[in-house]
Amino acid sequence: MFNALVVQKNDEGKTSAAVQEISLDQLPQGDVTVAVEYSTVNYKDGLCIGPGGGLVRNYPHVPGIDFAGTVAASDDARHRPGDKVVLTGWRVGEAHWGGYAQKARVKADWLVPLPRGLDTRQAMAVGTAGFTAMLAVMALEDHGIKDGPVLVTGAAGGVGSVATAILANLGHEVAAVTGRPETADYLTSLGATQIVPREDINETTKRPLEAETWGGCVDAVGGEMLARVLGQMRYGASVSAVGLAGGAGLPATVIPFLLRGVNLLGIDSVMQPYDNRVRAWERIAKDLPMDKLEAMIQPATLSDLPDLGRGILKGQVKGRVVVDVNS
Ligand code: NDP
Repeated sequence: MFNALVVQKNDEGKTSAAVQEISLDQLPQGDVTVAVEYSTVNYKDGLCIGPGGGLVRNYPHVPGIDFAGTVAASDDARHRPGDKVVLTGWRVGEAHWGGYAQKARVKADWLVPLPRGLDTRQAMAVGTAGFTAMLAVMALEDHGIKDGPVLVTGAAGGVGSVATAILANLGHEVAAVTGRPETADYLTSLGATQIVPREDINETTKRPLEAETWGGCVDAVGGEMLARVLGQMRYGASVSAVGLAGGAGLPATVIPFLLRGVNLLGIDSVMQPYDNRVRAWERIAKDLPMDKLEAMIQPATLSDLPDLGRGILKGQVKGRVVVDVNS
């Protein structure tokens, strides 16, 4: 028997989450069983732990959209017992039991070998949010980062923190947008050279085009923020659209695309093929300074998860929550 955070749904459709003991034979089918060491708290996890169950597709359910650990048993030659592995995406923690347990069983294709230079705790300090931040930066690079600062929105959150640290380490000037002025020192320590109050973007003239300012953007917020940012991009610059923490609507016009050649790049971390995953994790190990990653970490245990899930949905979590599932 081992511990897991299990989400249940009662006859009235109300969900509840609690730590309980489960057994190996309760785990879903899969080629590889992993002794999980660390998981994290992402925005999606907040939805899955919270009331209503968010994106959960089956009950009872073990959430946790990412994890890192050691292979305990395997029917696949790519992952042998004792190997360190990391998992993000593939709707694990939504449709398939996830990382909020001391053991997980998954398809071999979903796992990536832990890249050299990262341990399992560091890999989960990165987690889905950081992996996505790297994909967002790689997409900007593919389309060419222009002169001028690179804007990061939702900067004090998980995606934003990692994107800020990677971009700064690559030598870009980073302008970090935050609604929490108290995080300014933290964002500066990650490498941001400019702190932009959230209202400075959201409360602009709302004209379709404003001064050409940003050479690129990683946007974790969507909604009004993304709409305003599109009109502030330099000619031919790109925005990697990652998230919707500020809303799913997009009250924008086509003008920035027509008159400034702006590129809006959608970033999806869930269905990335194996080779892309390996490439992104290798870039993370190379381009994300580990001292900055340490500064982002908020440690947690399985029993902290219900509170942390509520916190991330309110935009109150700073950096990355790393869940030690064995403590
Ligand atoms: P966090 O909650 O850690 O960060 C989101 C940040 O957005 C907050 O910290 C806050 O930053 C800002 N924010 C929150 N609410 C608002 C608001 N109403 N208006 C403006 N800014 C707001 O979440 P993550 O970084 O983990 O994820 C960010 C988004 O990216 C989520 O929507 C998530 O679902 C999505 N995502 C998408 C992935 C993909 O594959 N495309 C993968 C991973 C995440 P601050 O306080 O600094 O303003």
